Amino acid sequence: MSRNQALFERACKTIPGGVNSPVRAFGSVGGTPRFIARAQGAHIWDADGQRYIDYIGSWGPMIVGHAHPDVLQAVQAAMADGFSFGAPTEGEVLIAEEIAKLVPSIEQVRLVSSGTEATMSALRLARGFTGRDRIVKFEGCYHGHADSLLVKAGSGLLTFGNPTSAGVPADVAHHTTVLAYNDVAQLEEAFASFGDEIAAVIVEPVAGNMNLVPGTPVFLQALRELTARHGAVLIFDEVMSGFRVALGGAQARYGITPDLTCLGKVIGGGMPAAAFGGRADIMQRISPLGPVYQAGTLSGNPLAVAAGLATLRLIQTDGFYERLGTATTRLVEGLAAAAREAGVPFASASVGGMFGIYFSDQAPACFADVQHSDTARFNAFFHAMLDAGVYFAPSAYEAGFVSSAHDDALIDETIAHARSAFAALARP
Ligand code: PMP
Repeated sequence: MSRNQALFERACKTIPGGVNSPVRAFGSVGGTPRFIARAQGAHIWDADGQRYIDYIGSWGPMIVGHAHPDVLQAVQAAMADGFSFGAPTEGEVLIAEEIAKLVPSIEQVRLVSSGTEATMSALRLARGFTGRDRIVKFEGCYHGHADSLLVKAGSGLLTFGNPTSAGVPADVAHHTTVLAYNDVAQLEEAFASFGDEIAAVIVEPVAGNMNLVPGTPVFLQALRELTARHGAVLIFDEVMSGFRVALGGAQARYGITPDLTCLGKVIGGGMPAAAFGGRADIMQRISPLGPVYQAGTLSGNPLAVAAGLATLRLIQTDGFYERLGTATTRLVEGLAAAAREAGVPFASASVGGMFGIYFSDQAPACFADVQHSDTARFNAFFHAMLDAGVYFAPSAYEAGFVSSAHDDALIDETIAHARSAFAALARP
């Protein structure tokens, strides 16, 4: 038995499903999850010593590659001074200033430890600020696992949302309205019907949790205009897209200024750090200044802040995003060409250092489109690539990530493996 297999069997005895976050379990693709022993640059090694080119990058944070020497050194230096104090530190001031500099819509920011905390806190703040309860989200966007966000659409536009998870009270879900992503007409209808009840609209401006589906400029512009007109708070959830699709995130790429922004992943450089921030008049409603309560024992943890600051410095080097974008484009265009040669229906897209691959003729524009992707083909492709030493996300509903450590040679090696995988898929 392989060590991966042995570890998985052991893990399943004491950890539900053997994993500490569901998608790691290979539930939709089948097979044994790889237990990762170490990582360096663009590579990860599993418990059996097998090496993979990694296109997950811890689901986004590892934008400068794994175990980058600058990040490692920053964390080691911070570690020597102690792990956590539960009191303010200079590092928190430095990272707050850095975030505000890179994302100008953020006048004030508060650090938390996960993206879930960031979105949950931003929503509470928006509700406290507006005095309203209703929130709007979009089908296929994931904002972490807070109760009010684990909600799907009711049977019609004006119905209340229904929980997508057991354990979420219907009373909580009722305050969430779920609309179709990129559908401007539906958005306008919702605002015309109950715009003045909406505390906040939360959106992934580039959606990375239904594979990759970029928001259209007209949709994001409509969101900005309608929320402003109705006094609702516009929250960009840039936990994934922040520092990933551009240095200033999706808001810089699209030229749209949200009221609040949620950040995560890259700002922790692989350590647990996330943040929410935005307009000072809204942020000042938080405790201890205002009546909206929010707190965290490990918020602004010195080691996480050190990793984040070192990562934020590296991504500001000249040409970083041009190179990242070029590498990502090289990958998705190479994959698409390989699929075409083999006659396999396939589409791909990328924004900055994020990409999507779909086993259908057209790149999707919303969640309903994503469901037309051929998941059986995706699963076969995933396993063929894994066997060849290329680690893509183990789900047809996840985006992929490229880091600055993915050079042309690694990308071309990936494409060569994909050519064989597509050829095998095309055989009857
Ligand atoms: N928002 C978005 C857009 C995300 O992609 C994620 C996680 N993938 C979250 C929020 C939740 O972040 P976390 O897993 O750190 O709680």
